[in-house]
Amino acid sequence: MLTVNSIEKGIVIDHIQSGNGLKIFERLNLAKVDFPVVLLMNVPSSVLGKKDIIKIQDKIDIDFTMLGLVDPNITINIIENSEIIEKKTVEIPQRVKGLFKCDNPRCVSNNDIYAIPQFTLVDKKKVKYKCEFCDDFTKYKL
Ligand SMILES: [Zn+2]
Repeated sequence: MLTVNSIEKGIVIDHIQSGNGLKIFERLNLAKVDFPVVLLMNVPSSVLGKKDIIKIQDKIDIDFTMLGLVDPNITINIIENSEIIEKKTVEIPQRVKGLFKCDNPRCVSNNDIYAIPQFTLVDKKKVKYKCEFCDDFTKYKL
């Protein structure tokens, strides 16, 4: 199996459903950073069959709302001195601001550049949100 040196200090985003790793990598702008980052794809996993992993050799601020939206099953390990000092989980966020657009083309949030779209979760299974501007329903998608 492919191995990558463990990191001394930083963040490991684990248990990413295979295929979501690249989305998260892009959303976190990791292609543009100047510290070491690794995206591992299709790693064999006992739980998921296949999974993606992202290793970040630095302490960066991670948008947990975005992560929960892309993949609520991921785990985040905070590493210091080559040891996991903290494990975090994410969940589908109750409220989302500005991460995706409202489906309603006539919605204020799609027509006023100063109106940042805001949503409240109405259906966790379908990841369906209600727009706070127009009350229309929007299914989250990246
Ligand atoms: Zn709307």
